[in-house]
Amino acid sequence: MANVKDFSVEEKLIAVLALQKIDSKIDEIQTLKGELPMEVKDLEDEIEGLQTRINNIDVEINTINAFIEAKTNAKKDAQALIKKYEKQQDNVKNNREFEAINKEMEMQELEVRLNEKHIKDSSFDLRDRTNSRIKTEDKIKDVEEALNIKRSELEKITVETDKEEKVLSAKSVEAKEKVDARLLIAYERIRKSYRNGLAVVPIMRDSCGGCFNVIPPQRQSEIRQHKKIIVCEHCGRILVDTDLNEKVNIKA
Ligand SMILES: [Zn+2]
Repeated sequence: MANVKDFSVEEKLIAVLALQKIDSKIDEIQTLKGELPMEVKDLEDEIEGLQTRINNIDVEINTINAFIEAKTNAKKDAQALIKKYEKQQDNVKNNREFEAINKEMEMQELEVRLNEKHIKDSSFDLRDRTNSRIKTEDKIKDVEEALNIKRSELEKITVETDKEEKVLSAKSVEAKEKVDARLLIAYERIRKSYRNGLAVVPIMRDSCGGCFNVIPPQRQSEIRQHKKIIVCEHCGRILVDTDLNEKVNIKA
């Protein structure tokens, strides 16, 4: 770019400002896309977590059901024994034998009641687990709905922006060629050091558009004169006046 250095300061400023505007548009697209894939991933993870919860609940439900079944069988066994003892009592030979059978029957009656209590308690547990399963399934439906929306948003943005991004990248390369070599190095260095990627900023309400520190009137007028390139004394960003900022527009 041997002939670039012959350009006026104003031309240099316009070139670097145009580059900044193109690069900012690319940044915007990347930010837009950058958050969506993360949001999609978060929702996918959430569904996976909820699915794991359902699987755990199912294991618990199976365990409780098996327990209820075992207790129901134990109750039936005890009831069968009681029936058997009742018949035996009809045929006892003496009082002692009668009493002994009676004791056995009482034990089995206790067994029946104990099993009934277990069954009742477990039925409450079962209802509780079933309710949380329903709630978890509802939650999955909600998250899936949100996920579908985010997915189609991302798909749409990707389709829309892929083309735009390619055009802008080409424009950025083109714009770079017009920027004074030393200025370009400064631009890239400043751009990299700030998360918002702003290296060239306009004066906004008497302040630096990058760090918002006030710019003294004398300095503002120097910036407006386009006689030299002026950087913000606080953040080091290249400053341009509002008029120039509005004059330089890029079509994307
Ligand atoms: Zn600043």
